Amino acid sequence: MSKKIFYSIWLVTSLVLLSCLTIVLAVVYSHFTQEQFEQLRDETRLATQGVILDGQEYFENLGQTDFRITWITSEGIILYDSEADQTVMENHLEREEIRQALETGSGQASRYSSTLSTRLLYTAQRLPDGSVLRLSITQLTVWHLFMRFLPQILIILAVALLLSSLLASRLAARIVEPINRLNLERPMEAASTHRYDEIRPLLARLDEQRRQIQKDQQEIEKTSLIRQEFTANASHELKTPLHVISGYAELLETGMVQGDDVKVFAGKIRGESERMANLVEDIIDLSRLDGGAVGMRRERADLYRIAGNAVESLEGPASDAQVEVSLTGSPSYVSGIPHVLYSIAYNLCVNAIKYSEPGDSVTVRVHPEGSRVILRVEDTGIGIPQADLDRIFERFYRVDKSHSKEVGGTGLGLSIVKHAARIHGASITVESEVGKGSAFTLSFPEAGPAEA
Ligand code: ADP
Repeated sequence: MSKKIFYSIWLVTSLVLLSCLTIVLAVVYSHFTQEQFEQLRDETRLATQGVILDGQEYFENLGQTDFRITWITSEGIILYDSEADQTVMENHLEREEIRQALETGSGQASRYSSTLSTRLLYTAQRLPDGSVLRLSITQLTVWHLFMRFLPQILIILAVALLLSSLLASRLAARIVEPINRLNLERPMEAASTHRYDEIRPLLARLDEQRRQIQKDQQEIEKTSLIRQEFTANASHELKTPLHVISGYAELLETGMVQGDDVKVFAGKIRGESERMANLVEDIIDLSRLDGGAVGMRRERADLYRIAGNAVESLEGPASDAQVEVSLTGSPSYVSGIPHVLYSIAYNLCVNAIKYSEPGDSVTVRVHPEGSRVILRVEDTGIGIPQADLDRIFERFYRVDKSHSKEVGGTGLGLSIVKHAARIHGASITVESEVGKGSAFTLSFPEAGPAEA
């Protein structure tokens, strides 16, 4: 960056310098031309005096001069020319300086001479007898002028370029230095003290990015911690039934269990295996939902019908637990993944049945409300203490671990509900009172009208 700034400054300074030199040269050139004219006019006046006094004789004694001298009659005929044969020269009446001199007494002009391939300056003066005396000199070209002042110009250029290089490198360093000193750990602090206002929006953006990165980092760390905990818990949860199974199997193997007890033990082994299968199924469901249900097709689904299916499939467990389950409401459409919506309704209903006493009741209600669809599962069961309400959606969290195991819980049901609700944009609220019952309410965004 400092290199770029250096070259830019250097380039600008050099361009300015060159422009100045050109302007100065032009001014000096015009000044020199005026000087040459002035000098030529003086010479013409002197020569005129000489011709008035000596006539033709003046030219004979003239000798070597820097200028060309021509004497012309008032009719434009050349009487004398110091550089050419006057007899072959054309009539000069139409020449600008001659015309001026004949009209006003004196004249001047500058013209390009194709014969000499240079620009010439002319001054002319009328004599008392009406003839005109003209002097001309080669006009100094810009190149001549340039060459004449070349040493000075080179010195000025060298000094100026050296100075501009020094200045450019110092300026570049000064511009870059505060940027290099920026404390990117605290961009906003730097922004308040920084001397470049222009850099503030950049620092604000950096600060925002830094915060976002920090937030993402914390999120990643949190997720990784949750995953670690989950793996540890899942392994533990899977190990427990495995130990039980292997213990019972060993008793059967060694023949320590006989007669009717064999059936009991085999039943226990089957029960524990079912528990393991449920757990593995829940783990698979949860990991799918955790990944955001990628690849699962969403459709316009009737949550009322889905909840009805869940209630129907739980008729057996409900009657075993002597809990009455009823469904009310009307068709309510959400945009979602049907089997995930089913697992929401199923898990809420199964919990409501599991955590109820015989004689309790469960009411499932699904209905549209404004632009939302409400699913409410209410029971008159054992309820949840207020202190646990915040934690029941955590993986493997149970209010009463032994009761949960007794009723076949895996500790993952509400985690599945939470994740499934999240991918459907649904909010969850829980109301509960110990001994009186619980109510889980989910509010979904309603699906748009069906396409024709
Ligand atoms: P579990 O498989 O143990 O039921 P969940 O994640 O489904 O796990 O629920 C977590 C805990 O929340 C349960 O162990 C239970 O203590 C409590 N809980 C969930 N639903 C209810 C309910 N309807 N009534 C009382 N307690 C409930």
